[in-house]
Amino acid sequence: MNVEFRDPDATQKLVAAIERALPDGQTVKIMHVCGSHERTVSRWGLRSLLPERLEIFAGPGCPVCVCPVHEVGEAIALAERGVILATYGDMLRLPTPYGSLAEAKSAGGDVRIIYSPLDALKLAVQNPAREVVFFSVGFETTVAPTAALLASTALLPDNFSILTSHRLTSPAMELLLGIGDIHIEGFIAPGHVSVIMGSEEWRIFPEAYRMPVVVAGFEPVDILLALLMLLEQRQQGAVRLENEYNRVVQPHGNSVAQAAIWQLFDVQASWWRGIGRIPHSGLVLKADYARYDARERFGIRLEPAEEELPPGCSCHLVMLGKIHPPACPLYDRKCTPTTPYGPCMVSQEGTCFIWHSMGEGMNLDDR
Ligand code: SF4
Repeated sequence: MNVEFRDPDATQKLVAAIERALPDGQTVKIMHVCGSHERTVSRWGLRSLLPERLEIFAGPGCPVCVCPVHEVGEAIALAERGVILATYGDMLRLPTPYGSLAEAKSAGGDVRIIYSPLDALKLAVQNPAREVVFFSVGFETTVAPTAALLASTALLPDNFSILTSHRLTSPAMELLLGIGDIHIEGFIAPGHVSVIMGSEEWRIFPEAYRMPVVVAGFEPVDILLALLMLLEQRQQGAVRLENEYNRVVQPHGNSVAQAAIWQLFDVQASWWRGIGRIPHSGLVLKADYARYDARERFGIRLEPAEEELPPGCSCHLVMLGKIHPPACPLYDRKCTPTTPYGPCMVSQEGTCFIWHSMGEGMNLDDR
């Protein structure tokens, strides 16, 4: 445990400084776009420590939540064809109109839970007579190890391929700024993504959108300090990119990981569940690597669905930072972590799952 970053005295001083930095009588809304940041905020009760006038909202920071139903449908179709379908555990319970991967597994599909791309590769080596498809889902942080694995083509057996559902964070943040009724006054940028892409990844926000950004780590003091830095910019009338997490994040990130990503993947417009199609927000394998692309290999390609969310689900409003989870009429009623109805209640990165499991919102109204 890193005591320094959970120090009660430091926390109290930061909370007091934040109270002083908040403008009198005005509400300030700050957004982060990271499930791990939401876990820190909720786990440590930061919202209840801070004045109500400082609103902290979660944006689209959960890759499982935003995985569109047609891509889950492609994974289910592959499992039904008899391949070994390897993916991360959170993906199994994701409900879609095609069913879920857990249901496909119950019906006899060979769906395996893995913890890294290397686990999927091991499955292919251990099962040379079977096709193994790695359903690789995630943002830049998850893309990097997948890209590193695929870049080593000499290691890849012929029976290994991947079904990608990779998304880039920055285009979704740009989309949020184009939505009129969200009124964000600053972004806390995700520390994990910044380790790979560098803090400069977010330079576009202050320069093109006049939106302050602070890159933050994952301890309570990290988040509080990032909030204070954003409020101080506001006090000064300044708009800057700042890096609170500079003990880990470098301005230009990990150049080796980035080289592997751009060697393997092209950028294209992609669908985000509940949000829609976002330009330049997805990664697809380059034509040179088509032999490892499960969609090409098995001829499976489903069209995006018109209805991405189940009836009555408010996940789109949660993911856009328009509401907190308790404002959804189904929260803690029809939808709980043991009976997830919408995608935000499935994954440990999902805002509704985090709020429910951490008891967040017990002392808040539905603001
Ligand atoms: Fe979606 Fe369930 Fe959250 Fe409502 S409570 S927004 S249905 S995940």
